[in-house]
Formats: sequence, structure tokens, C-alpha cells
Amino acid sequence: MAPLGPMNIRRRQPRPQDIEIEILYCGVCHSDIHQARNEWQNTVYPCVPGHEIIGRVVKAGSAVRKFKVGDIAGVGCLVDSCRTCPSCREGLEQFCENNATFTYNGEDRASDGITFGGYSERVVVDEAFALRVSEKLNLAAAAPLLCAGITTYSPLRKWKVGKGQKVGVVGLGGLGHMAVKFANAFGARVALFTTSPGKAQDALRLGAHEVILSKDPGEMARHKGSFDFILDTVSAEHPLDPYLELLKRDGTMTLVGAPSTPAPVMCFSLILGRRSLAGSLIGGLPETQEMLDFCAERGIVCDVEMITMDQINQAYARMLKSDVKYRFVIDIRKSRWA
Ligand code: NAP
Ligand code: ZN
Ligand code: ZN
Repeated sequence: MAPLGPMNIRRRQPRPQDIEIEILYCGVCHSDIHQARNEWQNTVYPCVPGHEIIGRVVKAGSAVRKFKVGDIAGVGCLVDSCRTCPSCREGLEQFCENNATFTYNGEDRASDGITFGGYSERVVVDEAFALRVSEKLNLAAAAPLLCAGITTYSPLRKWKVGKGQKVGVVGLGGLGHMAVKFANAFGARVALFTTSPGKAQDALRLGAHEVILSKDPGEMARHKGSFDFILDTVSAEHPLDPYLELLKRDGTMTLVGAPSTPAPVMCFSLILGRRSLAGSLIGGLPETQEMLDFCAERGIVCDVEMITMDQINQAYARMLKSDVKYRFVIDIRKSRWA
């Protein structure tokens, strides 16, 4: 697989409803790796990943209402959708029944091309798909909220995680560490499942109340039938039954991690206890804004390691070893684009 390297791309001329953003920071999501490496078998090359974008508005079209030049704006995983189907009308644009336009590797509705993501200096986007980000937040640390943040916030809200519940988060990476912070902020008792014993102290600092080493069957067995909800953020193939068995009667385990291989499940893991196995995809525009406002109010941001663009291939290699604390963010202005 060829490593990432520099290339020139063209952005469209802003339309009246568009803003042009000078990108300041872009987070590095594990989906960027799946996509760059064609693990989901739908990549169109050349591919420019990046969907955790924060920058400054440098142009605003005549019809733009939400932003003016100089404002901070965020762009997540979506840049367009049909806007008329039932899902779009409910603000669940990620489930657009006429195919949402994703920030990269998507068929652009505004041109004939394929969309290019945030590993770049600028982006042009319809203001309806740009988010307001409070300047009270550390902007570099806020960038990953645009994917890792909303992808974990949305299922925790949908399944009404809160006080009095025991909630599990599987995997302490970009998504997992935000799931721990949000589940704690919503008042739940939070347990982190990890394959990395060295992350235990960090997990407690981030808001977990206990840490379970998932490869230790004895430790896992102690929690049988005790969880209300489990959120699985793991990026690679792993067995699901050992987690399903830890759910209470009527408990739910939701997958957000997206490995490319199927995950077999024993029927009895679900039948006994009437348990549910579910999935969740990022979040729509209204909920993404709600999450950003919640984070601004509570001072919640991501724990980040800053890199420049030339370090991206090393960053991918480290993420594949589960070695990131806990999100890489590219400082776009400090990057050289030789
Ligand atoms: P990440 O930062 O690389 O974290 C993944 C974590 O999974 C690792 O830190 C590790 O945690 C655990 N892990 C990795 N390999 C494992 C293995 N073989 N067995 C068990 N655990 C393992 O990745 P991320 O950016 O958070 O993304 C996670 C997944 O979510 C990716 O598949 C990504 O594509 C997907 N995703 C989905 C959505 C959605 O809308 N559904 C949105 C964004 C991302 P420990 O070291 O703690 O074990
Ligand atoms: Zn992502
Ligand atoms: Zn739609």
C-alpha cells in the first residue's frame, strides 16, 4: 500500500450558500486509515482523508447567514445530503435515503468530482453542513469532536445512558476516550474494557470508574449480566459474545467500530436475556451542534497528540498498534506541503 504523500487539489469556487474555510486543525480518525487502505473496498483514488476539521472562515457567499469572515467553523463527516427525504428532514442526514455526501471519498453533489477531506489547507462547504465551534475551547483539542465526539455522544444519548446505569466502553482510542468522558458526564458508572494494561491509569483519569482487561476471562466473568449498555469502538476483528454475555436482561451493545470483517455471534448470547446488538453511524447536523455546545458548556475536549502533515504515516503506524493518546491532530498551518 502506497504511503500518503503531497498532491495538489482544486476546491470549487464558493457558491452563494458556501463558505471557504482555512483549515487550522484536522484530527486523524481510524476511518481515515480504513479508507486510505481501501479496507472497506470502496475507495476512489486519489483519496484525501480527514473529517475532523476546524478552521477560520476566509470567504462567505452572499446567501450565507450563519457565518462571517473571521469566524471559527467546524466540518465533520458530512458535507451534503438530499435534504428532502424523511431522514434529512429529521436532522439525521447521515442516513440520507438518497446517499449522504461524505466529506471525503463521496460523490460531490456540487461538482462532478469526488470529495476531498481535511488533510488539506482549505475546504469549501455549504454553510448548512458547517458547525459553530466555541472559541472558548482549545480548537486543536476540539477538532476530533467532529467525528470521535459525535460518534460516541449520539448512541449514548439514543440509548439514554445516565445516572444509575453501568455502562461499558470497549477500546481506549480516539472514539473510546470520548465515550468514557461523555458516559461519565451523563452520570453513568463507566467501565473501560481494554487490551492495553498500560492505559488503565489514563482511563481512570478520563472518567472511567473501573478498568477491565478484556483478555482476562476471570475478570470478564466477574461482570456477567451486569451492564445496561456497552459501546464497542474497536477498529479490528474481535469476538462479540464475551461482551454480550455481560449485558443485563434487555441490555444493548452498540457497535460503532467498523472492522472490515464479519463478526459471528452465538444466538444464545442474545436469546438468553433478550439482549440487543445494534449499530450507530456518526450523528446528524442538529445533534452534532448540540454535542459541540454541550462540550463548550462543560469544557469537554479530546486528549490530543499534535503532529504535522509529514508525520502522518508514522501516526497511522502507531494507531495500528493501539498507540495513540488519544487522538492525533494535524497542525495544518505548521505543516509543510512540499
Ligand atoms: P483508534 O483510535 O485506533 O482506537 C481503536 C482502539 O481499539 C484501540 O485503541 C484499541 O483499544 C482497540 N483495539 C485495536 N485493535 C484491537 C484488537 N485487535 N482487539 C481488541 N481491541 C483492539 O480508532 P478510532 O479512531 O477510535 O476508531 C475506532 C473504529 O471506529 C474504527 O473502526 C473506525 O473506522 C470506526 N468509526 C466508526 C464511526 C461510526 O460512525 N460508526 C465513526 C468513526 C469511526 P485498547 O488499546 O484500549 O484495547
Ligand atoms: Zn471518523
Ligand atoms: Zn436525504
